Amino acid sequence: MNYFTHEKRYNTVNEYYRHLFGSKVYKISLNGDFTCPNRDGTLSHKGCIFCSEKGSGDFAGDKKDSLVKQFNEIKNIMQNKWKNGKFIVYFQANTNTYGSIKKLRNLYEKSLSLDKDIVGLSIATRPDCLGNDVLDLLDEFNQRTYLTIELGLQSMHEKTLKFINRGHDLKSFVDACKSLRKRNINVVVHIINGLPTDSYEDMLETAKFLNKLDIQGVKIHMLFIQKKTELAHYYERHPFKLLTLEEFVDITVNQIEHLNDQIIIHRLTGDAPRDELIAPEWTLKKFVVSNEIDKLMRKRNSFQGIKGRDYEK
Ligand code: SF4
Repeated sequence: MNYFTHEKRYNTVNEYYRHLFGSKVYKISLNGDFTCPNRDGTLSHKGCIFCSEKGSGDFAGDKKDSLVKQFNEIKNIMQNKWKNGKFIVYFQANTNTYGSIKKLRNLYEKSLSLDKDIVGLSIATRPDCLGNDVLDLLDEFNQRTYLTIELGLQSMHEKTLKFINRGHDLKSFVDACKSLRKRNINVVVHIINGLPTDSYEDMLETAKFLNKLDIQGVKIHMLFIQKKTELAHYYERHPFKLLTLEEFVDITVNQIEHLNDQIIIHRLTGDAPRDELIAPEWTLKKFVVSNEIDKLMRKRNSFQGIKGRDYEK
């Protein structure tokens, strides 16, 4: 089944959630006060090259606040826009399975009890932070709620994984996906377009590679340079070409056209807080980016999965 509409020729997460839960669903980003092995010195102190001071959770709640306060603040804003929505609580900043089982259990438990309209739990983590004890715990939560694990890959190419200092290789990512799918847990993968070590073909290959995994969703981000990141220092010393809006739209449409039409697209943009963005400026205009993608797909009369259907082989 797919969830294309007249305007959107790919599976948007909004349509998918509407189908699944019968109403608009908002993700509310909470901060569970985690760190990351790629930042605390276990693997490295630097983190991934693009990772912000807030552990790539710049729009998550404030870790100093209780979960209730974080949740209610965002819920109130959301409900001013749309009444009667449902919620998925999302642990986004840092590595949200990197803690004792006791901490994880308490946190996930508490987050699900914050509101009667919470219908699911989303957890962002790394492939190397999914030991058997964590997987067993996730398995348990997966029986009780709509659970999604968001895994960063960014690129399938080892040269790029090294360049961005991911601290894990492709095999570790694939193994993590398999372990999650063995337990029937939904997996959403993050990839980035525009990394200087990836060519156009490399980016396309990463998208095609996702078809070989039994994943349920993808987030496609554009690389942007955010202040106070390793990438910002690198960019200052070695300026490289960032994708233009047109280039990003072109590669992203190509990726969508190759992507298995059962995969749900959770995001096609990524953005830094306005005052922390160095470049490119256009990444702030999320609606423009998504409109341009829709326009190009209409112009080509294409839709998700139209090219090749090589994933069926
Ligand atoms: S895994 Fe996530 S939190 Fe850790 S350094 Fe990389 S982007 Fe940051």
